[in-house]
Amino acid sequence: MSTTPTRITHLVGGAPWQGRSERTSPVFDPATGERTGELDLASAALVDEVVTSARSAWESSWQRASLTQRTQVLFRFRELLNERKEDIAALITAEHGKVLSDALGEVTRGLEVAEFACGIPHLLKGGFSENVSTKVDVYSIRQSLGVVAVISPFNFPAMVPLWFVPIAIACGNAVVIKPSEKDPSAVNAVAALWKEAGLPDGVLNVVHGDKEAVDALLTHPDVKAVSFVGSTPIARYVYETGTAHGKRVQALGGAKNHMLVLPDADLDLAADAAINAGFGSAGERCMAISALLAVEPVADELVSKITDRMGKLVTGDGRRGCDMGPLVTAQHRDKVASYLDAGVEAGATLVVDGREGDVDADGEGYFLRPTLFDHVSRDMSIYQDEIFGPVLSVVRVQSYDEGLELINDNPYGNGTAIFTNDGGAARRFQNEVEVGMVGINVPIPVPMAYYSFGGWKNSLFGDSHAHGMEGVNFFTRGKVVTSRWLDPSHGGIELGFPRNT
Ligand code: NAD
Repeated sequence: MSTTPTRITHLVGGAPWQGRSERTSPVFDPATGERTGELDLASAALVDEVVTSARSAWESSWQRASLTQRTQVLFRFRELLNERKEDIAALITAEHGKVLSDALGEVTRGLEVAEFACGIPHLLKGGFSENVSTKVDVYSIRQSLGVVAVISPFNFPAMVPLWFVPIAIACGNAVVIKPSEKDPSAVNAVAALWKEAGLPDGVLNVVHGDKEAVDALLTHPDVKAVSFVGSTPIARYVYETGTAHGKRVQALGGAKNHMLVLPDADLDLAADAAINAGFGSAGERCMAISALLAVEPVADELVSKITDRMGKLVTGDGRRGCDMGPLVTAQHRDKVASYLDAGVEAGATLVVDGREGDVDADGEGYFLRPTLFDHVSRDMSIYQDEIFGPVLSVVRVQSYDEGLELINDNPYGNGTAIFTNDGGAARRFQNEVEVGMVGINVPIPVPMAYYSFGGWKNSLFGDSHAHGMEGVNFFTRGKVVTSRWLDPSHGGIELGFPRNT
C-alpha cells in the first residue's frame, strides 16, 4: 500500500520553514522502494536568510550564554536523546536502510559526543601565568567563532552531525546543518530535541539542499567554519572553496580500508571481524573493511571461514531482525553491483555472488547480498575504488612487508586493522602504517568521543579531526591576554618596546 509522501522541510529560527520550495527531491524507503518523503531544497537566498538569523541568535544570546547555561542545555539534550534514541533509529532505518540495531548503535555513538560536550567547562579552561614580568599576568581564553556549518553524508545521518553539533554549540557557536538529501529526517528529529532542551531559537538551524545550498554556505561571509563529511572529490572541493573564502574547514573524505591478517592470528576472530566490518551497514561505512590482506599460508582457511559465515547472514528489511539491510538508493545498488562484473572480468574469483539468494523484504528494495572476491590484485578496480557496498576483496600477500606496502601506497588513509597474536608485530604496524585510525584485533577502530576521529591523505582535507580536543579547538579561537595592574604609584610614561623585568 503506498502512502502520500511526507513533506520534509528546513528548520529555521526554531520553527519549520513556512515557504514553498521551487525545487524538491524525493526520499525513499530503501527496503521497499516506496517514495516516502518529498524534501524541500534550499535556494541560495534561503541559505542567506538562515545564516543571517543564526548570526543574530549568536550575537544576541548564545555568544553571551554562561558556561552554566550552556551546560544545562547540553545535559538536558543528552537526556532527551537517550530517551528518544529508538525513535531516531527508526527514522534512520526507514530512510537509510541499515538494520535497527545498527541504527541504534549509530545514535549511541553520537550520544557519546553529547556526553563529552557536557564537560565543556573543563574543556575550555585556559592557562594562567601570574607575574610573568613585574605586575604582569598572562592568560589564555578560547572564544566562539560565530556561525558554523555542518554538511553531512547519507551513511550516518544522525551520528556524523552529532560528531560536530554538540561541541560547536557547547563552545558558544550558532550552527547551520545541511544533511544528506537521501535521509534527511533524523537530523530534523534531533534538532527538535535541542529546542526541547532549551536551546534558544536560531542557534541551531537545518537547511536541506544540494550543491546550491552547499555553495551558498561555502561562500557566505558570515559562515566562519565548515565541518564536512562525504566523498573525497566533494571533500576536496569543499576544502578548497571554503578556505578560498576565508573559512576554517575540516573536510573528511572517502576511504578504502585494509585489514591485514598475519599467519599467527586467531582466524576465527579475524573471520568474524571481516564479516562485521565488511558487511555491517551493507558496507556503507567510511570505516568498513573492503580489502582483506591475507598473509600466506592462511588465505585458503580464512576464505573458507568467511564463506561459511556468509552463508548464515540474512539480508532484508532492517525492521525485521535481519543482519544486513539494503543499499541506500537503486542507483547506488546498481553501481555497487556493476563492480561484481568488473571484478570477474578483471580475473578475480567470485567466491560468493551477492546477486544470488533471497532477501527478507516486501516490495522492490535496493538489495545486494554480501559478496566475496578472492585472488584480487592491486590493478583491479574492485581493489582501487571505494565501492561503498557489501563487497569484500581478499588480496593474498606473502609477507607483513608486502601488506604494509599496499596499505601505505593507497591514496586513502582513514582506518585499518591488523590481526595477530604477536604484540611486537602489532606495535611495529601501529608505528609504520600511514593511516589515521588503527585497530589491533579490532576491525572498526572508531575512536571514543574524547579522542578525535579522522583519517590521513585523501581521507581528510584540513588540519583538524572531528570531536575530542581537536573538535573543541576547531570550534573556538584562542586569545592570549597580557595584563598589568599597576600599583597606585607607577613609574610614568615609557616609549620603549616591552621588556620583561
Ligand atoms: P557525498 O560526497 O555525495 O555527499 C556528502 C554531502 O555533500 C551531502 O550533504 C551532499 O548533499 C553534498 N554534496 C554532494 N555533491 C555535492 C556537490 N557537487 N557540491 C557540493 N556539495 C555536494 O557523500 P555521500 O555519498 O553522502 O556519503 C558517502 C561518502 O562519505 C563515502 O565516500 C564515505 O567514505 C564518506 N564518509 C566519510 C567519513 C569519514 O569520516 N571520513 C564518514 C562518513 C562518510
